[in-house]
Amino acid sequence: MHITAAATTRAARYPTCATPSGRVHSRYERRLTDTPASVQETLIHLHDRKFFCDHTACEQKIFAEQVPGLTHRYARRTPHLTELLTHRDCTSRGSVPIPVVT
Ligand SMILES: [Zn+2]
Repeated sequence: MHITAAATTRAARYPTCATPSGRVHSRYERRLTDTPASVQETLIHLHDRKFFCDHTACEQKIFAEQVPGLTHRYARRTPHLTELLTHRDCTSRGSVPIPVVT
């Protein structure tokens, strides 16, 4: 299953300086996996944005928007999938734990 999504907020905050910005620098497609490889693939095509940070003391001039509950910086999987892989009961299935790489 492929899902197309986009953030609808007008502004984003760079986490370090917390300054809100509504100036969009660029747009790009980000692909996030939401299910383990052993089941039917769910791939989210997120139309994400990069914003300018206008805070004069901030060294980060451009930052990528993060969607709460859906994205983390540099992550290619959703928090849902990370939690699923982290808390999976591996002993009952006789498999080895899956290392989590974000
Ligand atoms: Zn900033």
